[in-house]
Amino acid sequence: MEKCKQCGNELREVGNLLVCDKCHKTEKEFRSIEDKDYYPLGEYFFLKKDYSKAINYLLKGKEIKDADCLNLLGLCYLRGEGLNKDEKEAFKLFQEAAERGNVEANNNLGTCYQLGKGTERNVSKAKVCYETAAEKGSILGKVNLAQCYLFGNGVEADIKKAFDLFNDPLLANDPVALYNLGIFYLRGIIVKQDLNQAKRYLLKADEHHSPEALVTLGHTYLADEREDISLAINAYEEAFKKYHSLRALDNLGEIYFLGIRVKKDPERALTYYLQASEEEFPDALYHVGRAYYYGIGVKQDMAKGYSYFLKAADKGNLDSMNMLGVMNMRGEGLNQDYNVGMRWFKIAADHGSLMGMYNLGRAYINDFDNGHNYQEGFKYIKMSAEQNFIPSLTLLGICYLNGLGTEVNYQEAVKYLTQAADNGDGEALYHLGKCYKDGKGVDVDLKKAKELLIKSKEHRYPVKDSEIDFVA
Ligand SMILES: [Zn+2]
Repeated sequence: MEKCKQCGNELREVGNLLVCDKCHKTEKEFRSIEDKDYYPLGEYFFLKKDYSKAINYLLKGKEIKDADCLNLLGLCYLRGEGLNKDEKEAFKLFQEAAERGNVEANNNLGTCYQLGKGTERNVSKAKVCYETAAEKGSILGKVNLAQCYLFGNGVEADIKKAFDLFNDPLLANDPVALYNLGIFYLRGIIVKQDLNQAKRYLLKADEHHSPEALVTLGHTYLADEREDISLAINAYEEAFKKYHSLRALDNLGEIYFLGIRVKKDPERALTYYLQASEEEFPDALYHVGRAYYYGIGVKQDMAKGYSYFLKAADKGNLDSMNMLGVMNMRGEGLNQDYNVGMRWFKIAADHGSLMGMYNLGRAYINDFDNGHNYQEGFKYIKMSAEQNFIPSLTLLGICYLNGLGTEVNYQEAVKYLTQAADNGDGEALYHLGKCYKDGKGVDVDLKKAKELLIKSKEHRYPVKDSEIDFVA
C-alpha cells in the first residue's frame, strides 16, 4: 500500500482517492471517478466537515439517484450544512432515499415526523417509520422504536416492550440502550432492582459515550450505602469534565452540604453550587439561595437569597417558588406582603408542587388579612393529601375534626390522622391521641391515647405534661 509523502502513514482508498487519515493532507487520485464513488467521497468530506466538497459529490450522486447520497444530502439540508437549510427538501430526499432502499432514511423520516420538520408533526407516523427501519435491521430504528414505547409516543406506552427492544443483543453496544437498561435496574422497573447490574450497564454506556450515564452512575453509587462515596464523587467529577454536566456539579454540592458519607463542608458545597448557578442551572440557583437564606457556608443575607430564589423560580424550580411565598408572608429580606406570598404558593401549586398546595391551603385557612377562606383551603389541602403529602394528611384530618371547609367527620379525621401518624408526624400523633382519649371517630382507648401523646412529644410536638397525665 502506498504511503503518505507528508507523514508516512499508510493511505486508504476512498472512492477514486487515496487519502491519509493521519495528517489529512494527501488526497490523491489513483483512477478516474465512477458513479459508485460519489457516496464514499461525499461521506468522507462530510465527516471531515469539508461541506462544499461533500455537497459537490452528493449532488452528482443525486443525479444518478443513489439512495445513500440522497439520504446524506437530506441530512445536509436538514441541518443546513454546506447549503441553506431547507427542511422540506430534506424530507423529500429522505422519502426518495427510503424508497430506493436506504434503511437509515426511514429513521430520518421518523425524526421529521416526530419534530414536525419539513412535514406536519405526526408521532404515529414517526413510530411507523422507526418500525420500518427496525424491521430492516437498523440499530437506530430499534432504539427509536423502544423510546416510542417507553414514552408512549405515537403508540400506547408499553414499558415491557421498550425493555425487550433495548435488551436486543444487536443493541449490546448502543449507548442509549445501555443507559436505559441501567435505569431499569436502578429503579427496579420491569426487573428486580439490582444496583450492581445498573452500575455495569451505566459503565458500559459511558464507554460508548452516553452523555447521561456518568451522572446516573453517580446517583447509583450515592444510593448504595455499601459503596465508598468517592466512587460517586469521581463519577460526578468525570461527568462534569467530559460532558459539562451541571447536574453533576450540583450533586457534588449536595454531598458536601448534607454530609453524605463525608464530613459536612458547606463552604465547599457552595463553590459547586455557585459554579453551576453561574450557568443558570435551576437547582443550583435554589441551593445558592438556600445557603444565603439560612447563612450556611456564607454570611446570612436574606435579600440575596431572595434574588437567587427569584431566578430559580423563573426557571421552574418549585422549592424556590415556595420559598418566595414564605419570605413574602413573613417579610424576610423584603417588606411583608401576604397577597404576594399567596400568589407564589399558587404558582408553585399550579406547577404541581405538593408543598405549594399545602402552603396555599394553609394560608387560605389562616388568612388574617383577607379573612379565612376555609373552602379554598380545604380544596388544596385535600388535593395534596390525596398524593400522600404528609403535612397535608395531618391538616386534612384537622379540617375534618373541626369542620373547616367541610362537614365535621370524625371517621375521616381519624383515617387521615392515622396515615400521617404512621409516618411519624408529631402533630397528627397528638390529634389522633386526643381522638382516642375522647372517643371521636373511634372507641375510647386510654392506653392507646397515652401512647400516641407520648410519641407525639417524642416527635417534638409541644404536648403539655398535664395532657398526658391521666390514668390509662
Ligand atoms: Zn499523512
